Amino acid sequence: MSIQETQNIILGAGVAGLGAAYALNKRNEKSLIIEKDKTHGGLCGNFSINGFRFDRFVHFSFTANEQVNQIFEKSSPDIYRHIPNPFNIYKNKWIKHPAQNNLYPLSEEEKTLIINDFKKRKNISDKVPDNYEDWLRIQYGNYFAEHFPMVYTRKYWMCEAKDLETKWIGNRLYQPSIEEVIEGCKTSETPITYYSKEMRYPKYGGYKQYLKILAENQDIIYGENVTCVDAINKTIKTSKGKAFKYHHLYSSIPLPNLIGMLSPTPPDEVVTASKKLKCTCGYQISVGFKTNRIPPYLWWYIYDEDNIAARVYSPSLKSPDNAPTGCTSLQLEVYCNHGRYSDSELIQKTIQPLINQKIVFEEDILFIDIRFEDFANVIFDHEIYTNRHIIRDYLNSIGITTIGRFGEWDYLWSDQSLLSGLNI
Ligand SMILES: Cc1cc2nc3c(=O)[nH]c(=O)nc-3n(C[C@H](O)[C@H](O)[C@H](O)COP(=O)(O)OP(=O)(O)OC[C@H]3O[C@@H](n4cnc5c(N)ncnc54)[C@H](O)[C@@H]3O)c2cc1C
Repeated sequence: MSIQETQNIILGAGVAGLGAAYALNKRNEKSLIIEKDKTHGGLCGNFSINGFRFDRFVHFSFTANEQVNQIFEKSSPDIYRHIPNPFNIYKNKWIKHPAQNNLYPLSEEEKTLIINDFKKRKNISDKVPDNYEDWLRIQYGNYFAEHFPMVYTRKYWMCEAKDLETKWIGNRLYQPSIEEVIEGCKTSETPITYYSKEMRYPKYGGYKQYLKILAENQDIIYGENVTCVDAINKTIKTSKGKAFKYHHLYSSIPLPNLIGMLSPTPPDEVVTASKKLKCTCGYQISVGFKTNRIPPYLWWYIYDEDNIAARVYSPSLKSPDNAPTGCTSLQLEVYCNHGRYSDSELIQKTIQPLINQKIVFEEDILFIDIRFEDFANVIFDHEIYTNRHIIRDYLNSIGITTIGRFGEWDYLWSDQSLLSGLNI
Protein backbone atom coordinates (compact mmCIF):
# COMPACT_ATOMS: atom_id res chain seq x y z
CA MET A 1 0.00 0.00 0.00
CA SER A 2 1.41 3.43 -0.94
CA ILE A 3 1.37 5.96 1.88
CA GLN A 4 0.81 9.63 1.10
CA GLU A 5 3.46 11.78 2.81
CA THR A 6 2.88 15.42 3.77
CA GLN A 7 4.86 17.98 5.72
CA ASN A 8 1.93 18.84 8.01
CA ILE A 9 -1.20 16.87 8.72
CA ILE A 10 -4.10 18.56 10.45
CA LEU A 11 -6.84 16.51 12.06
CA GLY A 12 -10.24 18.18 11.69
CA ALA A 13 -11.57 20.84 9.32
CA GLY A 14 -13.35 22.93 11.96
CA VAL A 15 -12.41 26.57 12.37
CA ALA A 16 -9.21 25.67 14.30
CA GLY A 17 -7.98 23.16 11.72
CA LEU A 18 -8.76 25.56 8.86
CA GLY A 19 -6.97 28.34 10.75
CA ALA A 20 -3.87 26.17 11.12
CA ALA A 21 -3.87 25.31 7.39
CA TYR A 22 -4.37 29.00 6.52
CA ALA A 23 -1.38 29.99 8.70
CA LEU A 24 0.82 27.25 7.21
CA ASN A 25 -0.16 28.33 3.66
CA LYS A 26 0.95 31.88 4.45
CA ARG A 27 4.34 30.43 5.47
CA ASN A 28 4.47 28.43 2.21
CA GLU A 29 4.24 25.18 4.14
CA LYS A 30 2.13 22.39 2.71
CA SER A 31 -0.63 20.84 4.77
CA LEU A 32 -3.29 18.21 4.41
CA ILE A 33 -6.48 18.27 6.49
CA ILE A 34 -8.24 15.00 7.28
CA GLU A 35 -11.91 15.43 8.21
CA LYS A 36 -14.42 12.75 9.13
CA ASP A 37 -17.48 14.73 7.97
CA LYS A 38 -18.41 15.38 4.34
CA THR A 39 -17.76 19.11 4.64
CA HIS A 40 -15.71 21.62 6.62
CA GLY A 41 -16.91 23.76 9.56
CA GLY A 42 -17.18 21.39 12.52
CA LEU A 43 -19.34 23.07 15.18
CA CYS A 44 -19.36 26.25 13.03
CA GLY A 45 -21.07 24.27 10.27
CA ASN A 46 -24.77 23.85 9.53
CA PHE A 47 -27.37 21.55 8.00
CA SER A 48 -30.46 22.14 5.87
CA ILE A 49 -33.96 20.66 6.02
CA ASN A 50 -36.68 21.54 3.47
CA GLY A 51 -35.25 25.00 2.75
CA PHE A 52 -34.49 25.75 6.43
CA ARG A 53 -30.86 26.14 7.57
CA PHE A 54 -29.75 25.40 11.15
CA ASP A 55 -26.34 26.05 12.71
CA ARG A 56 -24.90 23.48 15.09
CA PHE A 57 -25.91 25.42 18.25
CA VAL A 58 -26.50 29.16 18.58
CA HIS A 59 -23.37 30.89 17.05
CA PHE A 60 -22.90 34.65 16.72
CA SER A 61 -19.65 36.54 16.32
CA PHE A 62 -18.79 39.15 18.93
CA THR A 63 -15.03 39.04 18.58
CA ALA A 64 -12.91 42.13 19.20
CA ASN A 65 -9.89 40.53 17.53
CA GLU A 66 -8.78 42.49 14.47
CA GLN A 67 -7.27 39.55 12.59
CA VAL A 68 -10.38 37.39 13.07
CA ASN A 69 -12.68 40.25 12.08
CA GLN A 70 -10.73 40.77 8.86
CA ILE A 71 -11.05 37.09 7.95
CA PHE A 72 -14.76 37.00 8.85
CA GLU A 73 -15.51 40.24 6.95
CA LYS A 74 -13.64 39.10 3.86
CA SER A 75 -15.53 35.80 3.96
CA SER A 76 -18.92 37.41 4.57
CA PRO A 77 -19.05 41.13 3.64
CA ASP A 78 -22.84 41.21 4.22
CA ILE A 79 -23.74 40.80 7.87
CA TYR A 80 -26.49 41.58 10.36
CA ARG A 81 -25.47 43.43 13.51
CA HIS A 82 -27.91 42.38 16.23
CA ILE A 83 -28.12 44.25 19.53
CA PRO A 84 -28.07 41.46 22.14
CA ASN A 85 -31.25 41.55 24.18
CA PRO A 86 -31.90 37.94 25.21
CA PHE A 87 -34.64 36.87 27.62
CA ASN A 88 -35.23 34.15 30.22
CA ILE A 89 -38.24 32.03 31.10
CA TYR A 90 -38.72 31.60 34.82
CA LYS A 91 -41.97 30.32 36.38
CA ASN A 92 -43.75 31.01 33.10
CA LYS A 93 -42.64 34.67 33.06
CA TRP A 94 -40.39 36.38 30.48
CA ILE A 95 -37.51 38.11 32.23
CA LYS A 96 -34.95 40.25 30.46
CA HIS A 97 -31.38 38.90 30.55
CA PRO A 98 -29.41 38.90 32.78
CA ALA A 99 -32.09 38.09 35.34
CA GLN A 100 -30.17 39.44 38.38
CA ASN A 101 -30.75 43.09 37.44
CA ASN A 102 -34.06 42.60 35.58
CA LEU A 103 -36.35 41.06 38.19
CA TYR A 104 -39.33 43.36 37.53
CA PRO A 105 -41.77 40.60 36.38
CA LEU A 106 -41.28 38.56 39.62
CA SER A 107 -43.74 38.57 42.52
CA GLU A 108 -43.13 41.18 45.26
CA GLU A 109 -42.42 38.30 47.66
CA GLU A 110 -39.59 36.90 45.51
CA LYS A 111 -38.14 40.35 44.83
CA THR A 112 -37.96 41.01 48.58
CA LEU A 113 -36.28 37.65 49.23
CA ILE A 114 -33.70 38.32 46.52
CA ILE A 115 -32.95 41.90 47.60
CA ASN A 116 -32.67 40.91 51.28
CA ASP A 117 -30.25 38.08 50.49
CA PHE A 118 -28.31 40.31 48.11
CA LYS A 119 -27.84 42.77 50.98
CA LYS A 120 -26.74 39.97 53.34
CA ARG A 121 -23.96 38.74 51.01
CA LYS A 122 -20.53 38.19 52.45
CA ASN A 123 -18.09 40.95 51.65
CA ILE A 124 -16.86 40.06 48.17
CA SER A 125 -13.25 40.90 48.93
CA ASP A 126 -13.26 38.85 52.18
CA LYS A 127 -12.86 35.45 50.60
CA VAL A 128 -11.72 33.93 47.33
CA PRO A 129 -14.48 31.45 46.49
CA ASP A 130 -13.39 27.80 46.35
CA ASN A 131 -16.00 26.80 43.84
CA TYR A 132 -18.73 28.16 41.56
CA GLU A 133 -21.49 27.74 44.15
CA ASP A 134 -19.56 29.87 46.64
CA TRP A 135 -18.91 32.41 43.88
CA LEU A 136 -22.65 32.58 43.06
CA ARG A 137 -23.69 32.95 46.70
CA ILE A 138 -21.12 35.71 47.23
CA GLN A 139 -22.07 37.58 44.04
CA TYR A 140 -25.85 37.30 44.15
CA GLY A 141 -26.95 36.18 47.62
CA ASN A 142 -28.46 32.80 48.48
CA TYR A 143 -32.01 33.08 47.11
CA PHE A 144 -31.05 34.26 43.64
CA ALA A 145 -28.08 31.85 43.47
CA GLU A 146 -30.26 28.87 44.44
CA HIS A 147 -33.23 29.68 42.17
CA PHE A 148 -31.43 30.90 39.06
CA PRO A 149 -27.77 30.09 38.23
CA MET A 150 -27.50 26.98 40.43
CA VAL A 151 -30.56 25.53 38.69
CA TYR A 152 -29.23 26.56 35.30
CA THR A 153 -25.85 24.96 36.09
CA ARG A 154 -27.59 21.59 36.38
CA LYS A 155 -29.14 22.08 32.93
CA TYR A 156 -26.16 23.61 31.14
CA TRP A 157 -23.12 22.08 32.88
CA MET A 158 -24.90 18.91 34.01
CA CYS A 159 -23.37 19.08 37.47
CA GLU A 160 -23.71 20.90 40.78
CA ALA A 161 -22.18 24.39 41.01
CA LYS A 162 -19.95 23.27 43.88
CA ASP A 163 -18.25 20.82 41.50
CA LEU A 164 -17.02 23.61 39.20
CA GLU A 165 -14.03 25.87 39.64
CA THR A 166 -14.36 29.57 38.74
CA LYS A 167 -11.63 30.75 36.35
CA TRP A 168 -13.83 30.16 33.28
CA ILE A 169 -16.39 32.78 34.43
CA GLY A 170 -14.45 35.84 33.20
CA ASN A 171 -16.98 38.49 32.12
CA ARG A 172 -19.63 35.90 31.21
CA LEU A 173 -21.84 36.59 34.23
CA TYR A 174 -22.92 40.15 34.97
CA GLN A 175 -22.22 41.29 38.53
CA PRO A 176 -24.63 44.15 39.29
CA SER A 177 -24.50 46.53 42.24
CA ILE A 178 -27.33 46.42 44.81
CA GLU A 179 -28.64 49.67 43.29
CA GLU A 180 -28.97 48.00 39.87
CA VAL A 181 -30.76 45.00 41.42
CA ILE A 182 -33.25 47.28 43.20
CA GLU A 183 -33.78 49.40 40.07
CA GLY A 184 -34.42 46.22 38.03
CA CYS A 185 -37.14 45.26 40.55
CA LYS A 186 -38.92 48.60 40.05
CA THR A 187 -38.93 48.93 36.27
CA SER A 188 -38.53 46.95 33.07
CA GLU A 189 -36.80 49.95 31.45
CA THR A 190 -33.27 48.90 32.34
CA PRO A 191 -30.17 49.28 30.16
CA ILE A 192 -28.82 46.31 28.21
CA THR A 193 -25.95 44.87 30.25
CA TYR A 194 -25.06 41.86 28.12
CA TYR A 195 -21.29 41.37 27.92
CA SER A 196 -21.13 42.02 24.21
CA LYS A 197 -22.51 45.12 22.49
CA GLU A 198 -23.36 43.50 19.15
CA MET A 199 -23.78 40.00 17.81
CA ARG A 200 -22.75 39.69 14.16
CA TYR A 201 -24.10 37.08 11.78
CA PRO A 202 -23.71 36.52 8.01
CA LYS A 203 -26.69 37.63 5.93
CA TYR A 204 -26.27 34.57 3.72
CA GLY A 205 -24.98 31.04 4.22
CA GLY A 206 -25.26 30.65 8.00
CA TYR A 207 -22.39 31.07 10.48
CA LYS A 208 -20.22 28.83 8.30
CA GLN A 209 -19.99 31.63 5.74
CA TYR A 210 -17.43 33.29 8.04
CA LEU A 211 -15.04 30.42 7.26
CA LYS A 212 -15.20 30.86 3.46
CA ILE A 213 -11.72 32.23 2.77
CA LEU A 214 -10.17 29.89 5.33
CA ALA A 215 -11.41 26.86 3.40
CA GLU A 216 -10.52 28.13 -0.08
CA ASN A 217 -7.65 26.33 -1.82
CA GLN A 218 -7.03 23.97 1.08
CA ASP A 219 -6.10 20.36 0.61
CA ILE A 220 -8.85 18.59 2.56
CA ILE A 221 -9.77 14.92 2.49
CA TYR A 222 -13.38 14.45 3.62
CA GLY A 223 -15.15 11.39 4.96
CA GLU A 224 -12.03 9.91 6.58
CA ASN A 225 -12.33 9.12 10.27
CA VAL A 226 -8.87 9.02 11.85
CA THR A 227 -8.66 6.01 14.16
CA CYS A 228 -4.95 5.48 14.78
CA VAL A 229 -1.97 7.78 15.29
CA ASP A 230 1.41 6.03 15.29
CA ALA A 231 3.64 8.58 16.96
CA ILE A 232 6.86 6.61 16.35
CA ASN A 233 6.44 6.09 12.60
CA LYS A 234 4.59 9.44 12.31
CA THR A 235 1.70 7.83 10.49
CA ILE A 236 -2.05 8.15 10.85
CA LYS A 237 -4.64 5.63 9.73
CA THR A 238 -8.34 6.02 9.00
CA SER A 239 -11.30 3.69 9.50
CA LYS A 240 -11.33 3.08 5.72
CA GLY A 241 -7.76 1.74 5.93
CA LYS A 242 -5.98 4.76 4.41
CA ALA A 243 -2.60 5.78 5.82
CA PHE A 244 -0.79 9.13 5.74
CA LYS A 245 2.73 10.02 6.88
CA TYR A 246 3.51 13.38 8.47
CA HIS A 247 6.46 15.41 9.68
CA HIS A 248 4.30 17.38 12.10
CA LEU A 249 0.81 16.66 13.34
CA TYR A 250 -1.74 19.27 14.44
CA SER A 251 -4.91 17.92 16.03
CA SER A 252 -8.22 19.66 16.74
CA ILE A 253 -10.04 16.46 17.63
CA PRO A 254 -11.10 15.99 21.27
CA LEU A 255 -8.17 15.12 23.59
CA PRO A 256 -9.77 11.96 25.06
CA ASN A 257 -10.35 10.58 21.52
CA LEU A 258 -6.80 11.41 20.45
CA ILE A 259 -5.28 9.71 23.51
CA GLY A 260 -7.41 6.62 22.80
CA MET A 261 -6.01 6.25 19.26
CA LEU A 262 -2.29 6.72 20.08
CA SER A 263 0.26 4.04 19.43
CA PRO A 264 2.24 3.22 21.49
CA THR A 265 -0.22 3.56 24.36
CA PRO A 266 0.71 6.66 26.42
CA PRO A 267 1.96 6.31 30.02
CA ASP A 268 -0.68 5.44 32.64
CA GLU A 269 -0.61 8.95 34.08
CA VAL A 270 -1.67 10.38 30.68
CA VAL A 271 -4.38 7.78 30.07
CA THR A 272 -5.76 8.33 33.59
CA ALA A 273 -5.77 12.11 33.10
CA SER A 274 -7.63 11.77 29.78
CA LYS A 275 -10.28 9.57 31.41
CA LYS A 276 -10.88 12.31 33.97
CA LEU A 277 -11.61 15.05 31.41
CA LYS A 278 -15.30 15.89 31.45
CA CYS A 279 -17.52 17.56 28.89
CA THR A 280 -21.20 17.90 28.12
CA CYS A 281 -22.83 16.34 25.08
CA GLY A 282 -25.71 18.17 23.48
CA TYR A 283 -28.87 17.66 21.47
CA GLN A 284 -29.98 20.18 18.86
CA ILE A 285 -33.75 20.07 18.50
CA SER A 286 -34.50 22.04 15.34
CA VAL A 287 -38.04 23.11 14.55
CA GLY A 288 -39.46 24.62 11.34
CA PHE A 289 -42.67 26.68 11.58
CA LYS A 290 -45.00 27.69 8.76
CA THR A 291 -45.94 31.03 10.40
CA ASN A 292 -44.10 33.84 12.18
CA ARG A 293 -45.72 33.03 15.58
CA ILE A 294 -42.52 32.54 17.58
CA PRO A 295 -41.13 34.68 20.45
CA PRO A 296 -39.41 37.86 19.16
CA TYR A 297 -36.12 37.11 20.96
CA LEU A 298 -32.94 36.07 19.15
CA TRP A 299 -32.19 33.67 21.97
CA TRP A 300 -33.59 32.83 25.41
CA TYR A 301 -32.70 30.74 28.43
CA ILE A 302 -35.10 28.38 30.20
CA TYR A 303 -34.65 28.25 33.97
CA ASP A 304 -37.73 26.09 34.61
CA GLU A 305 -36.73 22.48 35.21
CA ASP A 306 -39.90 20.96 33.73
CA ASN A 307 -38.39 21.87 30.35
CA ILE A 308 -35.02 20.15 29.92
CA ALA A 309 -33.90 22.56 27.16
CA ALA A 310 -31.39 25.07 28.55
CA ARG A 311 -31.44 27.56 25.70
CA VAL A 312 -33.43 28.31 22.57
CA TYR A 313 -32.45 30.51 19.63
CA SER A 314 -34.07 31.45 16.37
CA PRO A 315 -32.07 30.80 13.17
CA SER A 316 -34.68 32.74 11.14
CA LEU A 317 -34.28 35.82 13.38
CA LYS A 318 -30.49 35.58 13.05
CA SER A 319 -31.01 35.84 9.28
CA PRO A 320 -34.19 35.44 7.19
CA ASP A 321 -31.92 33.56 4.75
CA ASN A 322 -32.16 30.65 7.21
CA ALA A 323 -35.86 29.95 6.49
CA PRO A 324 -38.24 30.01 3.50
CA THR A 325 -40.32 33.18 3.06
CA GLY A 326 -43.14 33.41 5.58
CA CYS A 327 -41.64 30.69 7.78
CA THR A 328 -39.62 30.85 11.01
CA SER A 329 -37.46 28.47 13.02
CA LEU A 330 -36.15 27.68 16.49
CA GLN A 331 -33.40 25.41 17.77
CA LEU A 332 -33.51 24.11 21.34
CA GLU A 333 -30.35 23.00 23.12
CA VAL A 334 -30.41 20.12 25.59
CA TYR A 335 -27.24 19.03 27.37
CA CYS A 336 -26.44 15.70 28.92
CA ASN A 337 -23.32 13.87 30.06
CA HIS A 338 -24.57 10.40 30.62
CA GLY A 339 -27.36 8.37 29.10
CA ARG A 340 -29.37 9.65 26.20
CA TYR A 341 -33.01 10.55 25.79
CA SER A 342 -35.25 8.96 23.18
CA ASP A 343 -36.59 11.31 20.48
CA SER A 344 -40.13 11.16 21.86
CA GLU A 345 -38.87 11.86 25.39
CA LEU A 346 -36.96 14.88 24.10
CA ILE A 347 -40.03 16.27 22.35
CA GLN A 348 -42.22 15.65 25.42
CA LYS A 349 -39.72 17.43 27.67
CA THR A 350 -38.86 20.40 25.42
CA ILE A 351 -41.35 21.35 22.69
CA GLN A 352 -44.45 20.10 24.54
CA PRO A 353 -43.98 22.42 27.55
CA LEU A 354 -43.59 25.35 25.12
CA ILE A 355 -46.83 24.33 23.41
CA ASN A 356 -48.56 24.03 26.82
CA GLN A 357 -47.32 27.51 27.73
CA LYS A 358 -48.62 28.83 24.34
CA ILE A 359 -45.11 30.02 23.47
CA VAL A 360 -45.27 28.05 20.21
CA PHE A 361 -48.27 26.46 18.47
CA GLU A 362 -48.48 22.81 17.50
CA GLU A 363 -50.41 23.54 14.31
CA ASP A 364 -47.57 25.80 13.06
CA ILE A 365 -44.90 23.09 13.28
CA LEU A 366 -43.69 21.74 9.94
CA PHE A 367 -41.01 19.38 11.30
CA ILE A 368 -38.84 18.59 14.31
CA ASP A 369 -35.30 17.35 13.71
CA ILE A 370 -33.09 15.95 16.49
CA ARG A 371 -29.29 15.68 16.32
CA PHE A 372 -26.67 14.80 18.88
CA GLU A 373 -23.16 16.20 19.43
CA ASP A 374 -20.72 14.10 21.45
CA PHE A 375 -18.70 17.16 22.47
CA ALA A 376 -20.36 20.46 23.40
CA ASN A 377 -18.83 22.24 26.43
CA VAL A 378 -15.71 21.36 28.38
CA ILE A 379 -16.62 21.03 32.08
CA PHE A 380 -14.43 23.05 34.44
CA ASP A 381 -14.23 20.66 37.34
CA HIS A 382 -11.55 21.13 39.99
CA GLU A 383 -9.00 18.91 38.25
CA ILE A 384 -9.29 20.19 34.68
CA TYR A 385 -6.10 22.27 34.63
CA THR A 386 -3.89 19.51 36.05
CA ASN A 387 -5.31 16.85 33.75
CA ARG A 388 -5.19 18.76 30.51
CA HIS A 389 -1.65 19.96 31.33
CA ILE A 390 -0.44 16.36 31.75
CA ILE A 391 -2.02 15.37 28.44
CA ARG A 392 -0.93 18.34 26.32
CA ASP A 393 2.63 18.18 27.69
CA TYR A 394 2.87 14.54 26.72
CA LEU A 395 1.46 15.18 23.24
CA ASN A 396 3.94 18.00 22.69
CA SER A 397 6.76 15.68 23.72
CA ILE A 398 5.82 13.26 20.92
CA GLY A 399 5.48 15.99 18.27
CA ILE A 400 1.72 16.55 18.30
CA THR A 401 0.36 20.07 18.68
CA THR A 402 -3.24 20.30 19.82
CA ILE A 403 -5.47 23.20 18.79
CA GLY A 404 -9.06 24.41 19.06
CA ARG A 405 -11.81 24.02 21.62
CA PHE A 406 -11.29 20.30 22.21
CA GLY A 407 -7.56 20.23 21.45
CA GLU A 408 -6.83 22.94 24.01
CA TRP A 409 -9.73 21.57 26.08
CA ASP A 410 -11.03 25.02 26.89
CA TYR A 411 -14.20 27.15 26.74
CA LEU A 412 -13.19 28.76 23.45
CA TRP A 413 -15.51 30.79 21.24
CA SER A 414 -15.04 30.40 17.50
CA ASP A 415 -12.67 33.39 17.27
CA GLN A 416 -10.46 31.89 20.00
CA SER A 417 -10.53 28.49 18.31
CA LEU A 418 -9.55 30.14 15.05
CA LEU A 419 -6.69 32.00 16.76
CA SER A 420 -5.55 28.75 18.33
CA GLY A 421 -5.09 27.42 14.77
CA LEU A 422 -3.70 30.64 13.28
CA ASN A 423 -1.09 30.94 16.04
CA ILE A 424 0.53 27.54 15.64
C1 LIG B 1 -23.48 25.26 22.45
C2 LIG B 1 -22.40 26.03 21.77
C3 LIG B 1 -22.62 27.34 21.40
C4 LIG B 1 -21.60 28.09 20.82
N1 LIG B 1 -21.85 29.38 20.46
C5 LIG B 1 -20.85 30.14 19.94
C6 LIG B 1 -21.10 31.48 19.57
O1 LIG B 1 -22.21 32.00 19.68
N2 LIG B 1 -20.05 32.20 19.08
C7 LIG B 1 -18.82 31.65 18.92
O2 LIG B 1 -17.90 32.36 18.46
N3 LIG B 1 -18.55 30.37 19.27
C8 LIG B 1 -19.54 29.61 19.77
N4 LIG B 1 -19.30 28.30 20.11
C9 LIG B 1 -17.90 27.78 20.06
C10 LIG B 1 -17.49 27.29 18.68
O3 LIG B 1 -18.44 26.37 18.20
C11 LIG B 1 -16.14 26.59 18.80
O4 LIG B 1 -15.19 27.42 19.43
C12 LIG B 1 -15.56 26.18 17.46
O5 LIG B 1 -16.51 25.76 16.55
C13 LIG B 1 -14.57 25.04 17.72
O6 LIG B 1 -13.85 24.78 16.55
P1 LIG B 1 -12.76 23.64 16.50
O7 LIG B 1 -12.24 23.60 15.12
O8 LIG B 1 -11.84 23.83 17.64
O9 LIG B 1 -13.56 22.29 16.84
P2 LIG B 1 -14.67 21.54 15.99
O10 LIG B 1 -15.61 22.50 15.38
O11 LIG B 1 -15.22 20.49 16.88
O12 LIG B 1 -13.84 20.86 14.81
C14 LIG B 1 -13.18 19.64 14.97
C15 LIG B 1 -13.29 18.89 13.65
O13 LIG B 1 -12.61 17.65 13.78
C16 LIG B 1 -13.37 16.65 13.12
N5 LIG B 1 -13.01 15.35 13.71
C17 LIG B 1 -13.27 14.92 14.98
N6 LIG B 1 -12.79 13.68 15.16
C18 LIG B 1 -12.21 13.31 14.00
C19 LIG B 1 -11.53 12.14 13.56
N7 LIG B 1 -11.36 11.07 14.36
N8 LIG B 1 -11.08 12.08 12.28
C20 LIG B 1 -11.24 13.15 11.43
N9 LIG B 1 -11.88 14.29 11.80
C21 LIG B 1 -12.35 14.36 13.06
C22 LIG B 1 -14.82 17.05 13.41
O14 LIG B 1 -15.71 16.46 12.49
C23 LIG B 1 -14.73 18.58 13.28
O15 LIG B 1 -15.00 18.99 11.95
C24 LIG B 1 -20.33 27.51 20.63
C25 LIG B 1 -20.12 26.17 20.97
C26 LIG B 1 -21.14 25.43 21.53
C27 LIG B 1 -20.92 23.99 21.89
